[in-house]
Amino acid sequence: MTAYPHMLAPLDLGFTTLKNRVLMGSMHTGLEETKDWNRVAEFYAERARGEVGLMVTGGIGPNLEGSVLPGAAMLSTEEEVANHKIVTDRVHENGGKIAMQILHAGRYAYGPMCVAPSPLKSPISPFPPAELDEDGIEKQISDIVATAARAKEAGYDGVEIMGSEGYFLNQFLVTHTNKREDRWGGSYENRMRLPVEVVRRTREAVGTDFIIIYRLSMIDLVPNGSTYDEVVQLAQEIEKAGATIINTGIGWHEARIPTIATSVPRAAFAWVTKKLMGKVSIPVITSNRINTPEVAEEVLSTGCADMVSMARPMLADPHFVKKAMQDKAAQIAPCIACNQACLDHTFSGKISSCLVNPRACYETELVVAPAETKKSIAIVGSGPAGLSTALTAVERGHEVTIFDRASEIGGQLNMAKQVPGKEEFWGFVDWYRTMVAEAGITVHLNTEATVDTLKGYDEVIIATGVLPRDPEISGQDGDNVHSYIDLLRHKVDTGKKVAVIGAGGIGFDVSEYLVNEGESPTENLPEWMKEWGVADTEEHRSGLSPQGPQPHAPARAVTLLQRKAEKHGKRLGKTTGWIHRAALKMKDVEFVGGVNYERIDDQGLHVSFGDARENPTLIEADDIILCAGQVPERSLADALEAEGITCHVIGGADVAAELDAKRAIDQGTRLAATL
Ligand code: NAP
Ligand code: SF4
Repeated sequence: MTAYPHMLAPLDLGFTTLKNRVLMGSMHTGLEETKDWNRVAEFYAERARGEVGLMVTGGIGPNLEGSVLPGAAMLSTEEEVANHKIVTDRVHENGGKIAMQILHAGRYAYGPMCVAPSPLKSPISPFPPAELDEDGIEKQISDIVATAARAKEAGYDGVEIMGSEGYFLNQFLVTHTNKREDRWGGSYENRMRLPVEVVRRTREAVGTDFIIIYRLSMIDLVPNGSTYDEVVQLAQEIEKAGATIINTGIGWHEARIPTIATSVPRAAFAWVTKKLMGKVSIPVITSNRINTPEVAEEVLSTGCADMVSMARPMLADPHFVKKAMQDKAAQIAPCIACNQACLDHTFSGKISSCLVNPRACYETELVVAPAETKKSIAIVGSGPAGLSTALTAVERGHEVTIFDRASEIGGQLNMAKQVPGKEEFWGFVDWYRTMVAEAGITVHLNTEATVDTLKGYDEVIIATGVLPRDPEISGQDGDNVHSYIDLLRHKVDTGKKVAVIGAGGIGFDVSEYLVNEGESPTENLPEWMKEWGVADTEEHRSGLSPQGPQPHAPARAVTLLQRKAEKHGKRLGKTTGWIHRAALKMKDVEFVGGVNYERIDDQGLHVSFGDARENPTLIEADDIILCAGQVPERSLADALEAEGITCHVIGGADVAAELDAKRAIDQGTRLAATL
């Protein structure tokens, strides 16, 4: 008997059956744009081998004006049909099913040709859209329908019509973006005409035995978005128009409420989908921050949806479903919702991957093959760099021994997990612990490895990490000054006024830690919704609370300082930096930039401004926390080199600047693949 009977139950769609209730949601990985169709095919085939019930591709543009970016993948020629067929054939050979997402971006399209119901520029794009006339609207419909027909020809099992997240069809639905007075605007019947027409004509074109998923925005989270009644009305009309499944969209891209970041509670929006259950008779999929089989099972067994969508978790572990089927859920590599290697890459024009699994989207390039010669490998340091090297090396048949002077594995991940909103890091370290035990790796904790310890191994890997940088500020030896390690690892107590020196990722994390006390809102959905101003859609249009965000009072008065004059958090993740900034702003954290650190005394931190060291200012503080970056810990590597012992230095011990777990894991995995 499985622990996940609802998640693993088949879903009968009449003309076809999905083998379980897990959908791999659409992600813009950038793979289709590489035009390396073997690579695209392998990405999806690996997930098909992992037993996911149905996959949806990244968004494919129906025409030039609707494509997200100039050069974005389309399906408009016979040659493109043949290319896509490589993918669908490979998926089917591996027992999977795949639908192609048709994404018309409307005013979100990043290009001068973009079109929309009304000529209103979006706040997240520099391009003002052209207003469509009647013929223009007809053209968009026929381009979408023609793309769906070609998807069928290319062997897809279905299409997903993207109607949410503030894209084109969504833009017609609400008065926020639709100011038209013709039959495509005005009343709700008129505003929903376009999505319904698109689904109706698509069904006509593709016939009955073809999946049509409609992704419907169930909570817009922008002013003047849809009401609950409008969402239900649309869903019912979409069903009548011939959709097979309705998928949930949560929030527009321009919404200022986080919807998928790691600080969003797990399954935070399943209640939104649940409201639609029973209102339509076709299956309904829920989405957002579902990342374990336990959460998926809970969501399904409590009637929130008929199926769950997980996108990023399928990057982290393509064999998510298979491992759940085999009762090996603890071995599923967890998506920690960091966005660092997936969405942040997408928005920087890079191919997506995954912080936890650097092989994601690199299946054909980063190949972990059995080693020709079995080696004994010593790894010093059990942070993400050391652990990723160890697991990949064992997978290849090597024998690995890990040394760490700490009492637990995980390195700096153990500090990250202390930060409110980063609770996912607990599961990440647990996963490493499970995998290390499963792989039979010998781990010597509380052990200082020396040159002598490391003699005799075939390979020595130094992953000793980093040391905090010494900012050399006069008075920093005082009792009121602590490093971030004192705070996050040794739990030193602080007074009510705190100055944080350094506004990098760790300075932000430390500030978050200091302003929050008690239960993290990430662990308490009602609190989290109140904090960000998310309301019941039945009570408030668009799911926006009229009171706006109502955060708890900050536990401490925090000043976050940096020497640079640039905006605080500018170098944080592209898709998450704004959330970190907004979260601290809500807790009244004061951002002070462009400072010189003059000295620290019992009153607090004395700073001045500019090259001329003007405007001397006292930042009154009971305690000062140093988060001034890090330097490589290379002492062991240097000692080995002095003795003529060759070693590989990776992670922070190699280069500390801007080090994060993504680079450490990628470097460790790639090294181990070559040993
Ligand atoms: P970091 O990102 O390099 O930031 C170091 C901070 O210290 C900067 O704000 C820098 O600003 C300041 N600084 C540098 N030298 C200094 C000096 N001599 N005296 C005083 N201040 C100095 O390093 P980190 O915060 O330690 O983070 C390490 C890595 O982990 C980074 O890659 C970071 O992105 C990653 N991380 C990310 C997150 C996240 O995205 N949420 C969270 C944690 C860690 P000024 O030079 O302007 O003063
Ligand atoms: Fe999840 Fe982070 Fe991997 Fe993206 S990079 S899939 S958010 S773990």
